[in-house]
Amino acid sequence: MTDVQVETGLLAGDQRMLIDGELQHTASGALFDVVHPGSEQVVGQATDGTVADMERAVGAARRAFDETDWSHNVEFRYHCLTQLYEALVRNKERIRRIVVTEVGCPVSMTGSQVDSPIEEVKHWAEYGRAFNYLEDTGVHETVMGQARHLIHYDPVGVVGAITPWNVPFYLNIAETVAPLMAGNTVVLKPAQWTPWSGTELGRIVAEETDIPAGVFNVVVSNANEVGAALSADPRVDMITFTGSTATGRAILAAGAPTVKKALMELGGKSAHIVCDDADFTACLPMAAMMACAMSGQSCILPSRILLPRSRYEEGLAILAATMENIPMGDPWQEGIMQGPQISETQRNKVLGLIRSGIDSGARVIIGGGTPENLPTGYYVQPTLLADVDPDSQVAQEEIFGPVLCVIPYDTDEDAIAIANNSIYGLSGEVSSADNDRALRIAQRLRTGSVTVNSKSFFGITSPFGGTKQSGLGRRNGDFGFKEYLEMKTIGQPV
Ligand code: NAD
Repeated sequence: MTDVQVETGLLAGDQRMLIDGELQHTASGALFDVVHPGSEQVVGQATDGTVADMERAVGAARRAFDETDWSHNVEFRYHCLTQLYEALVRNKERIRRIVVTEVGCPVSMTGSQVDSPIEEVKHWAEYGRAFNYLEDTGVHETVMGQARHLIHYDPVGVVGAITPWNVPFYLNIAETVAPLMAGNTVVLKPAQWTPWSGTELGRIVAEETDIPAGVFNVVVSNANEVGAALSADPRVDMITFTGSTATGRAILAAGAPTVKKALMELGGKSAHIVCDDADFTACLPMAAMMACAMSGQSCILPSRILLPRSRYEEGLAILAATMENIPMGDPWQEGIMQGPQISETQRNKVLGLIRSGIDSGARVIIGGGTPENLPTGYYVQPTLLADVDPDSQVAQEEIFGPVLCVIPYDTDEDAIAIANNSIYGLSGEVSSADNDRALRIAQRLRTGSVTVNSKSFFGITSPFGGTKQSGLGRRNGDFGFKEYLEMKTIGQPV
């Protein structure tokens, strides 16, 4: 959360794509609408790019990689990304208004959507400048006698970046800036519900930086085929994707014929194991707030709360008391914590999953529908479901709404088994008065990250990603930078 003083009010972003250094509309002039989820009002439009536009963008990125010195001129990349950082700082409040307009994120919650990613640009510029691209690993025994082995880190090539709508500006930055600094060229395809977080980035790159034509391209479209074209194009070397597991599978399949490298950040269904010795008044209000903070539209949200049977009703009461008092409403209003869902479709999906939970025996403690006092906007009541069957649809599918599913358990072993009973493995949480016990449990969770006693695992210097069907590879940290590099081993005389 951040304490921001901004001019509020809806703001339309740039309609244009960036292809080969030119801000442009699609040839037909076709546009698609962008809706503010808080008012259901059409605020403006974006150009409706086509597969042909995507093919031109990939061609430009290929040419920029193969024919300019971008891939091997670290100092120039540092210069350009430092310019980008400074330009984003200048444009910060405009970006914030655009994010609130198209995502419906409460303005007071935009720190992680806007401020943090801008700082990441500076981080990657400096990290990539200091990185040792030629590592001497010393003398090795080989089949042909002793040799000195050097590892040269080469950029992968043309990187296609496909992003979702829940934290669009953050993910547009997270998926493009590290690869650019590593020497790749990029084609970004933002989600159709949030095109302006992408077009504004394109505009800023074109108007306020020296990033050469073709190095960074943005193609927006209302059609999924345009993202599909990017993920299948043989001229693309790598896809970095954040979105649903279903789309991730399709992208991996599309890239298989040309054996594309892939970094996949997919869905989640994380569990929070609350031990019987935990301080309930500390961990449960926070768990309830997190469920509502981004209207539940967070991949890492621990949406399954595992409560010990011995303190089950006590835990439910604390969760309910917090969820009942979540300030919900107009994202521009000060103090609002929960805004709307992104769209009518998403709201209906959330309500459908709540209904399926009730049908499979879950008890509604609070919420379960839409708020009467907010008839306009895609709002869903904070919803607490108790006695959820761990195998039921609502316990297994990602809801992406302000819904907590509470499941009772008896022993730590039971809790670990329930937490791991998922196709997903993105994150998790453990709360206990005994840090060692919590750590033992955390080590048994089959996930990419775990919060222990409210200490976040998330930060630019530590790897982040999913196991099982929550993803492939990691962002952030040294490992995350190297994801956008290939290792070339060079043998030479000792
Ligand atoms: P989505 O998968 O529907 O769409 C994501 C992007 O993929 C969009 O840009 C969309 O246009 C594009 N796309 C759709 N079909 C495509 C295809 N066949 N080929 C190529 N591109 C295609 O996801 P969403 O609804 O926008 O986002 C919500 C999902 O994102 C949730 O599952 C959430 O968990 C996940 N997410 C994961 C992380 C993470 O770090 N693991 C972070 C944020 C969101």
